[in-house]
Amino acid sequence: MLTIIKNIFCYAPEPLGLRDIFIAGEKIYKISPPGLIDCPHATLIDGEGCSAFPGIIDGHVHIIGGGGEEGPQSRIGEIDAKEILMAGVTTLVGLLGADDQTKSLFALLAKARALEAEGITTYIYSGSYAMPPVTLTGDITRDMILIDKVVGAGEIAISDHRSSHPTFDALMTIGSKIHMGGLLSGKAGLFHFHLGDGKEGLNPVKKLLNESNLPPALLLPTHLNRSPRLLREGIAYAGAGGNIDLTSGETEGVSLPDAVKQLLCENIDTERVTASSDANGSIPCGGVGRIQTLFEDIVRCVTEKNIPPSIAFSLVSKNTALRLGLYPKKGALKEGSDADILILDRDYSLKMLFSNGSFLIGEMSIGKADSGNGENGKTANQKSISEEYKQL
Ligand SMILES: [Zn+2]
Repeated sequence: MLTIIKNIFCYAPEPLGLRDIFIAGEKIYKISPPGLIDCPHATLIDGEGCSAFPGIIDGHVHIIGGGGEEGPQSRIGEIDAKEILMAGVTTLVGLLGADDQTKSLFALLAKARALEAEGITTYIYSGSYAMPPVTLTGDITRDMILIDKVVGAGEIAISDHRSSHPTFDALMTIGSKIHMGGLLSGKAGLFHFHLGDGKEGLNPVKKLLNESNLPPALLLPTHLNRSPRLLREGIAYAGAGGNIDLTSGETEGVSLPDAVKQLLCENIDTERVTASSDANGSIPCGGVGRIQTLFEDIVRCVTEKNIPPSIAFSLVSKNTALRLGLYPKKGALKEGSDADILILDRDYSLKMLFSNGSFLIGEMSIGKADSGNGENGKTANQKSISEEYKQL
């Protein structure tokens, strides 16, 4: 399947200016100044007035649902592929939460595979809130080596009444196992921490950063905008060379746009910062996290806080890909990258979405591109949507 998106303003996520993007199969084959790419067999999409970004990478999604902390009636259900794609997300990391008794890693892995079959690139964390982490094979290092989708352990809860209250030594032991898993499997390897609002704050992670031999890149604490106090700790931690993750849809603590603005005011290197949705997890006050809030909050960073689009969208593309060791295959609009492309209208509303080269979202309609159907590599679905698009 060959597609050319013409005359579109590209954020790679660095701003490139107006470009034509040539998609061949699952990859971006070429990105050139307008008018230089000519291929009579390609489907043409007019990108004038729109902008293109790498597909969103959401590093924290409860794909089989989290919750359960307020009794069985509070268990949360699975997320579906359409909801993920409508949020502009083309890659995600699924994880368990507080409940690893009625929800299992086996179900998590199966769900990740189901979403992959529907066009979304998926990874998972072994483990849950508890320590030692639950695993698929009996050992976290072995999970990472033997199961392609396992990128580390998370979300391990600390500073939270729902955590196992792990000791420093216990965290060191698991951190070492994840690090070895990363080395032996050739993956980045991540130790992903859920931060609650407990007394210890970020101290356990700070201690690992300062007193252990574990590489700083291994450690990734999240929910750091759940309170002004924790955000201040997160800013100091990022200033000391650590990576931090913020959560979208935050209403009780510091909103994601306000938190990003504060980080910029404190001159924190934003490449250390990522954002994720906590979708289908329980949120304070009994709600359920929505994946759409990630896209909404990133857009609000641009439209309400005047944060450059390249910085705002890096938090959910390039930076997350760097953490996961996937950059520039993911999180980039570059020649040779996977063709995960988010196309936004002038007002930053989602116009189209390509995932691994397949055209999955156009306007409000959804449907898998029917590859191989029709002449010249065009598909009925693509034609109808691109014609509709040209009329706008
Ligand atoms: Zn959490």
